[in-house]
Amino acid sequence: MTDVLAATVSSTAADAAASDAHIATPLTDARSQLAEAIALLGYDNGLHQMLATPRRELSVAVPLRLDSGESRLYLGYRVQHNFSRGPAKGGLRYAPNVNLDEVRALAMWMTWKCALLDVPYGGAKGGLAIDPREHSTAELERVTRRYTSEILPIIGPERDIPAPDIGTDEQTMAWIMDTYSVNMGYTVPGIVTGKPISLGGSQGRASATSRGVTHIALAALRHVGLEPSRSTAAVQGFGKVGADAARFLSEAGVRVTAVSDQYGAISNDAGLDIEALSAHVRATGSVVGFAGGEPLDGAALLTHDVDLLVPAAVEGVLHEGNAADVQATVVVEGANGPTTPAADRIMRERGILVVPDILANAGGVIVSYFEWVQANQAYWWRADEVESRLEERMLSAWQCVLGYAEQRDLSLRTAATALAVERVAEAHKLRGLYP
Ligand code: GLU
Repeated sequence: MTDVLAATVSSTAADAAASDAHIATPLTDARSQLAEAIALLGYDNGLHQMLATPRRELSVAVPLRLDSGESRLYLGYRVQHNFSRGPAKGGLRYAPNVNLDEVRALAMWMTWKCALLDVPYGGAKGGLAIDPREHSTAELERVTRRYTSEILPIIGPERDIPAPDIGTDEQTMAWIMDTYSVNMGYTVPGIVTGKPISLGGSQGRASATSRGVTHIALAALRHVGLEPSRSTAAVQGFGKVGADAARFLSEAGVRVTAVSDQYGAISNDAGLDIEALSAHVRATGSVVGFAGGEPLDGAALLTHDVDLLVPAAVEGVLHEGNAADVQATVVVEGANGPTTPAADRIMRERGILVVPDILANAGGVIVSYFEWVQANQAYWWRADEVESRLEERMLSAWQCVLGYAEQRDLSLRTAATALAVERVAEAHKLRGLYP
């Protein structure tokens, strides 16, 4: 019971915080970004309210029988923010502090991300307030299957398609696919993306977000006049996004001089050997203790003296308290929501180019879309086809956002959000209100 009580308290705290405009939460951040785009586009209050509010949200209590025989209860959510442009799409997050407001924010960002990259989806997100590191594989399988059963009525390949996010992976997607398929009575590969390749997953999906981050980072460095092969980078997070982003950046000639994870950070001014670091992380579970670097304070990574900063961990890490100390010239958001609106303002005033999450980390959902298309057609593309189509979409969205921002003297975030909101609003207006 303690887990549910703790989660309830944290969700109540988040609600209270959200009502206090001075305390930033992912949801207040997402709503303030939306409000700015709405004001710019001159949309009315009715449309604003509609876009600020999820179309559908489901909270579920998920009981789990532990290997010991005891049982626990975890709180889970699936929020579908918008369907105007197609089925809802978005990841599923397993983390102890997941709460409904956070999932609402992440679902809203998915709507903008899908619209901005012109993939035919609305936005969704799921969450389960559980620490996956505290559970055996058998327990994770049971809790995933039970969570899937609880949200079964609202998901489907034409309704809402989950994918991996923090704390979930391709095995989680395989269990969701199996649970859904067993309930339907036939195999439905299009119900999730980010599946193992042997179950109809796409070539290139696992590294897609990191590849996309790298394409954008290289373009952004060149845009501000920095040659990637003479630039340095710091990457926050060494998980699904950060580890491969560090690898691809260093393969592209960028000197990655600092990397962190939730346990600490390491730096090396001559450049970290990312291959050796990855081997160290596979062996020990953390970047801490890597012999090829010096220990660095985790928080200091964000203000490390580099050209490029890639926050690729969680929300709200660049805030009013540290934005003035960021030394990077370019920030490329590998995570969702790493920068608060206050930090955005401070960094813009300081001339730092911030490439927003809904553009920078969209590679994942782009290849998710490719995976869904392939699964629905039962026809598989080669890795090089996936990668070249990904690159083309990322760079064309980059040009589009850059052009929109320059014409109107906007930050890249405001431009990207406005472009996305405009596309969602257009679909909404064309479809009209029912009844
Ligand atoms: N969780 C990823 C994101 O935040 C991927 C979502 C998806 O592929 O549906 O973009």
